[in-house]
Amino acid sequence: MHFLEQQQTSQYYIDLEEHYGANNYHPLDVVIHEAAGCWVTDVDGKQYLDCLSAYSCVNQGHAHPKIREALIEQAGRVTLTSRAFRNDQFGPYLETLCKLTGYQRVLPMNTGAEAVETAIKMVRKWGYKVKGIPAERAEIIICAGNFQGRTTTIIGFSSEDQYRDGFGPFTPGFISVPYGDAAALEKAITPNTAAFMLEPIQGEGGIIVPPAGYLKRVADICKRNNVLLVVDEIQTGLGRTGKLLAQEYDDVRGDVILLGKALSGGYYPVSAVLSSNEIMGVFNPGDHGSTFGGNPLGAAVARVALNVLVEERMVENAAEMGEYFQEQLAEINSPYVNEVRGRGLLIGVDLKPEAGGARRFCEALRDQGVLCKETHGHIIRFAPPLIITKEEIDWALERVRPVLMGQF
Ligand SMILES: *Cc1c(COP(=O)(O)O)cnc(C)c1O
Repeated sequence: MHFLEQQQTSQYYIDLEEHYGANNYHPLDVVIHEAAGCWVTDVDGKQYLDCLSAYSCVNQGHAHPKIREALIEQAGRVTLTSRAFRNDQFGPYLETLCKLTGYQRVLPMNTGAEAVETAIKMVRKWGYKVKGIPAERAEIIICAGNFQGRTTTIIGFSSEDQYRDGFGPFTPGFISVPYGDAAALEKAITPNTAAFMLEPIQGEGGIIVPPAGYLKRVADICKRNNVLLVVDEIQTGLGRTGKLLAQEYDDVRGDVILLGKALSGGYYPVSAVLSSNEIMGVFNPGDHGSTFGGNPLGAAVARVALNVLVEERMVENAAEMGEYFQEQLAEINSPYVNEVRGRGLLIGVDLKPEAGGARRFCEALRDQGVLCKETHGHIIRFAPPLIITKEEIDWALERVRPVLMGQF
């Protein structure tokens, strides 16, 4: 195959990607060349308002100048030491993260899926060494509709057929209960249950917000039964829902929480497992690790990414702007919209079957300069950077209103 090197055209880059890349994604055809704040620019120079934030990774906005400065400065000094040695960025980053969240200890990884895998290993080991579960019997309860990553173990407890199809055999030891149903959790607990793991709002599952008080009830059930509560805040955390952690809405503190995505403001893969001295104490040198986890580049970037969230009041802005955006979306009286739901700036617009799927709405929004991505075929997610202003939301709404009314 021969590619015409008309390097400035979108089609050139799309053709290259389609020819050489694995076919495991179905992106919208917009080829982004640069970005700043809430805005991205494609190779043709057209600007778009980013209402996806790379699945909530760029909560701090694209190319945040302070995070970029930290990255460039650290990149010029030392980027990787491995944990065979220590580095002067790792400790200060751990301290920042612990002081901000109130957790005692951090285990650093890179991607969200690695944080989930780390939590699975940790709660299993806690189950055997502390709770006294007989060898090889530990159970972890998870929720139907979860999305927690793409490793073979994690997809093994997914309820999405496509995520599993052709990838078995899977890791045993996971029990599924319906999301939002505390009684079902209580019934599923056995003496061998090490942990219950859930997302405070199911993100990829379709912005599913559980009934009020659900998290509080499951936290109580876990406590009564000596079961660890693992809260996956990889998407909901770091201000996305209008609180630093979504679990705060129910006044809950998971025994273990997982962070990723926005932890590095989109600059670098950084994830973390946070817990107590006691639970994290099950790990001894050699039990677990990651070559890149805790590297000085990621640590420097993540520390600043956390600082700007707080200093620039992004969490408060997400609460305010989220409420406004959601309210305005709900007021659009479209025959195609079933429901608008979410919290803070994690918003889902659930379309009726007669809408003919969310994809064509996302394509129409792209044509109008608003970037969104469908999830589960019939839900449009609105999750802009947390720095978005009311003016920018109004700009988006002017374009979203006619599209949701089917005028395209
Ligand atoms: C995105 C996501 C993950 C997986 O993160 P990766 O970095 O893609 O591995 C895990 N849990 C939740 C809730 C997520 O949204």
